[in-house]
Amino acid sequence: MATITCKCGVVQIDFHTKNDLFRLECCCHDCSAALWYANKRGGPALPEYQCVDSSWFPNDFKIVKGEDKLGAFMNFENADTTRFYCTDCWSVMFGDHTAYATKIVVTQVGAYKEFKGLRNAELMSPQARHFVKDLPKEQLAALPTWEGDPANVYQGVADNWMARFPAVLEAGKAGMEMNAQILLARIGGAFIPKGETRLSEGPPTLMQQLADQVAGSA
Ligand SMILES: [Zn+2]
Ligand SMILES: [Zn+2]
Repeated sequence: MATITCKCGVVQIDFHTKNDLFRLECCCHDCSAALWYANKRGGPALPEYQCVDSSWFPNDFKIVKGEDKLGAFMNFENADTTRFYCTDCWSVMFGDHTAYATKIVVTQVGAYKEFKGLRNAELMSPQARHFVKDLPKEQLAALPTWEGDPANVYQGVADNWMARFPAVLEAGKAGMEMNAQILLARIGGAFIPKGETRLSEGPPTLMQQLADQVAGSA
């Protein structure tokens, strides 16, 4: 089964499967802004590029250790994404989004370079690189070459992710004993950092567009 751990090692979370349900590289402003904020609070260095390796797993996991060291934050008021982090070392462990319908969570912990946050996983190759429109020009030019089909580089949300989304939700699961919602309730909700304009003043989010597209296709 896939395991995620934080940099300091107090938190370990095991998924009940080793395969991710989807994987892509997310270049959206919000993902990197969240990792930037966590780094500012003492967390690990964010990835070199605003293009974050992201894998989705079922919302069904076991907190092997460190449940009392987990906190949650959102980039801004009414954000769609809640990110769970280690309160000791500020590694961002995984995220939940309203469109995930309690079935899946996303982890980007494998994108950290200074420790191996995602282990024992069998990952598919990244299926898309999306939200490249959020990248500053010089970053776009400096990005590592996309190895996949050029058609799977998207300015906004990835079409192939949206096409797979219903099947991914179908393959997901809300764990009976532990899941993102149970954990959030135990934490007492997500906090919202105050006065961080980098968090709150980004372009329209992946998550908003994702939610709109899901609503539109329903
Ligand atoms: Zn930690
Ligand atoms: Zn993102």
